[in-house]
Amino acid sequence: MATTESNVDVLIIGAGPAGLMAAAWMAHCGVKARIVDKRNTKIFYGQADGLQCRSLEIFDSLGFGDRAWKEANHMIEICMWNPGSDGVIRRSDRIPDTIVGLSRFQQIVLHQGRIERFFLDNIKKYSGDTIKVERGVLPESLEIDEAKVDDDLAYPVTVRLRTLTEEEATPVQQQTGSKVPDGLFRSNLTAVDDEDDLIRKSQARAGVTEIVHAKYVIGCDGARSWTRRALGFELDGEATDFIWGVMDIIPITDFPDIRMRCAIHSAENGSLMVIPRENRLVRLYIQLKEVTPDASGRADRSKITPDLIFGAAQKILSPYKIDYEYCDWWTAYQIGQRVGTSFESHNRVFLAGDAVHTHSPKAGQGMNVSMQDCFNLGWKVGLVAKGVCKRSILSSYQSERRRVAQDLIDFDHKFSRLFSGRPAKDVMDAEGVSMEEFKDAFLKGNMFASGLSVNYGPSNLVVKPGDAAEQGDGSERTAKTVATHAITADDFAKKQALASGLPVGMRVNSFKVLNQACARPWHFQERLKADGRFRVVLFAGNILSPEQKARVDRFCKALDAPAGFLHRATPAGQKIDSVVEVLTIHSSRRTETELLRDFPAALHPFDEHTGWDYNKVFVDDVSYHEGFGDAYKNYGVDKERGCVVAVRPDQYVGWVGELEDFEELHKYFEGCLMLTAPDGAKTEVVVR
Ligand code: FAD
Repeated sequence: MATTESNVDVLIIGAGPAGLMAAAWMAHCGVKARIVDKRNTKIFYGQADGLQCRSLEIFDSLGFGDRAWKEANHMIEICMWNPGSDGVIRRSDRIPDTIVGLSRFQQIVLHQGRIERFFLDNIKKYSGDTIKVERGVLPESLEIDEAKVDDDLAYPVTVRLRTLTEEEATPVQQQTGSKVPDGLFRSNLTAVDDEDDLIRKSQARAGVTEIVHAKYVIGCDGARSWTRRALGFELDGEATDFIWGVMDIIPITDFPDIRMRCAIHSAENGSLMVIPRENRLVRLYIQLKEVTPDASGRADRSKITPDLIFGAAQKILSPYKIDYEYCDWWTAYQIGQRVGTSFESHNRVFLAGDAVHTHSPKAGQGMNVSMQDCFNLGWKVGLVAKGVCKRSILSSYQSERRRVAQDLIDFDHKFSRLFSGRPAKDVMDAEGVSMEEFKDAFLKGNMFASGLSVNYGPSNLVVKPGDAAEQGDGSERTAKTVATHAITADDFAKKQALASGLPVGMRVNSFKVLNQACARPWHFQERLKADGRFRVVLFAGNILSPEQKARVDRFCKALDAPAGFLHRATPAGQKIDSVVEVLTIHSSRRTETELLRDFPAALHPFDEHTGWDYNKVFVDDVSYHEGFGDAYKNYGVDKERGCVVAVRPDQYVGWVGELEDFEELHKYFEGCLMLTAPDGAKTEVVVR
């Protein structure tokens, strides 16, 4: 059979949450991309279900946060159950599930299949149905032509893809006699990597292959990643002896907190976590004390059945009774914490998601962190492939995300040990786990788990002092390749003080502001859509003060100059806001200011076909129906003098400065965007 050959800008391997996030960015940025998955079907049951605040903010920026929010079960409170002095479990504490005031969203649960559905619909809509998951397709070889990796226009990665038959691409279910679908084929209790076997079978019948030349490849193929192995990279870390089972059931029980998230430690029978879910379902995470790993360090998965898992749950919950008639899905896993040694090769092939970090699922982190990896990576790869951004920004992926992965593993290590350990009988019981320590870890863990504590280190996308080796992932290579803007700690402290509520390196928090033209309240984050655009947020301050108005005018004059970054980043024939969008928030009274009278045209550009842009200028003022967001106060910005903030396409703050610091702002964009030559020649920007 003839082998076809083609070029693609970005090839994504694996269509789980990480791969779909990468594909969503390609769709939103208008990049030519393909996504393949060896399985012939998406997930319909089980798997991940917890969605943290940051993931919901991201979904909202992509345009489907409302779907998840409406369908999901909302997690409001966590109840802790521990044995009393009589050994019987009782409720010892209640804490809010999400730290109050952290985000406009709180943690919710909805199964992975629905989330993957939202992604697929979104990718279809934004790519005009050009990016579709190609199922039953897997790579069998990957080569990087090192001679071409520095050529922006080259396709240096060659991947041979193989198409499987329907039967080959269908995952095998464990023979337990149970008709309920299990997730063991994706569990880490499965020792074998089935790719080699699938490829061999397909080769034997001369199955269909094709050769793809890609500019960039993103490997999102899960914990046993073929792409990672093809690059020769490993996961560092180890497995523990703790084995846990998972069941999604509709419970029949007298346990009073079955509709709350519960962490339950029994005196002698292990621990259990209750996660109330959509459609009356409840997920139970159950420690399996009767199953232990063999000499190879792995537990025998054939011994694990729904009856065995549920029996363990009944013992832990005793004296309360629990039973079920309907089970939706079940699986088991062995806790292990591992991080990838490297997240990329030549900045041409990248790894993301479970392919570079694995840990226990109880803290509800895997899917969230995996999607967030690709929310960090996708726009960078997409904009570089389009010729909008410089290739050097790609180094920041590893420096930013490997550190998050390491933090995740450290967090999970502590959390799992505390969760799987037997509760201490008294203060002298050194082997037992202190329930006070457990509660404390839960409270602290909530901040980390929300995804909102991520603070990226210095790079050409984040202007802060220090070098990447110190603040990034610690690798020597990253330190060499990440260009940092020189800024001293003192200078940085002065700049950061201009917007103390917008820490450089962290995501823009959201407060309500009103549209100057129509008075409609918006959460400011809603204006930071995931469309691949950088943003300059001008806090214009008190625009009615003549002195401040003069400062704003001077800033806008520099902004609008042909030699400035705004014009030089914009490809010929495209709108002035197509690469960098300027948004304004002022602090004067809305009713005393006029859009066209008080604000320079650069802040609400005119189009001969559609008139003035009324969606760019906002005011920090009281609304009729939704109160006062108090955005200046919350962002820590002076109401008279304001400041300027550069925001990356993924909503992270890249730079903060005064209105007079235009040169620095220009340098920020010069460091990451492809600008045309100052004489106006449009030769440097290549838009395909
Ligand atoms: P995966 O979801 O594993 O997707 C990888 C994809 O790549 C799959 O579709 C696979 O078919 C495909 N693939 C694999 N190899 C190849 C190949 N060679 N070629 C082509 N395609 C390939 N996370 C949370 O955030 N919250 C939770 O509440 C949570 N609960 C969990 C509960 C359980 C029981 C389990 C098992 C996991 C849970 N997780 C949770 C973790 C979460 O499911 C994973 O972290 C997440 O799915 C990782 O996403 P991914 O896209 O990196 O990998």
